[in-house]
Amino acid sequence: MKVIVANHSGFCFGVEKAIHTAFDEVNNNSNIKRDIYTLGPLIHNQQAVNKLENDGIKVIGHLNEVSDGTVIIRSHGVSKNIYDIAYEKKINLVDATCPFVRKIQNIVKEYKEKGYNIVIIGNPDHPEVVGINGWCNNEAYVVKTEDDIEKIPFLDKMCIVVQTTMSTSLYLKLTDILEKKAIDVVKFNTICSATRDRQESARDLAKEVDVMIVVGGYHSSNTQKLVEICKEEKPNTTFHIETASELPINLLGGYETVGVTAGASTPKWIIDEVIEKINSL
Ligand code: SF4
Repeated sequence: MKVIVANHSGFCFGVEKAIHTAFDEVNNNSNIKRDIYTLGPLIHNQQAVNKLENDGIKVIGHLNEVSDGTVIIRSHGVSKNIYDIAYEKKINLVDATCPFVRKIQNIVKEYKEKGYNIVIIGNPDHPEVVGINGWCNNEAYVVKTEDDIEKIPFLDKMCIVVQTTMSTSLYLKLTDILEKKAIDVVKFNTICSATRDRQESARDLAKEVDVMIVVGGYHSSNTQKLVEICKEEKPNTTFHIETASELPINLLGGYETVGVTAGASTPKWIIDEVIEKINSL
């Protein structure tokens, strides 16, 4: 059985930056002994979060849970009010917001101030989208289907942005419809290049192999998109797993080529374990 790994897979630079920031804090903290927290899991990968916890980095759900210490903002970013609360409570914030996400936050803030209605193409419950919405008074229309767009009235001014991990095909399809719902429309394709690279190379690889294994957290948005894309090419032989122990070994027999890709929050050691296990079959 031949294993081929996608050209672009695994940690993106935004996630790497967040992880390095967290470990830098742990190292710098050895003398001061301040508690270190992340606001939400640092990345959408339980195995990596467990490792960070072993190093003393605790996950909190809200700033109310702490009165001092250091709180790391993850790559998804947060609403403006989180910075305000931290300032009031004198909590030390370490900001690991990905620059791609920061760019979207700045766009929605700027265009909201110019009088535009903001539309975010994305998942309304995803922390990145919740955070972006918090930079335009939580007044954005968040859409992820054509039905969601029907609920938006005809508008004077509309500014469209998209969650960094959405697929380009969804962005193009929904923007087409949205453009007919306002007089003045500005749009920004804010899908990040790391996501685009991973999606394109996953599709290319899925066309080439018999089976696709997508490695990544079940709650990771960009991993879920990779699964969808691979299923478009290999509907019956795409498998989403979190760790090597979940490899569907009994279903891989008889195939010659296996493609492996991984979400932007999947650590290299997990990908390596998966490859090693397939090679051992
Ligand atoms: S997926 Fe893109 S936006 Fe998200 S952290 Fe990685 S580089 Fe940044």
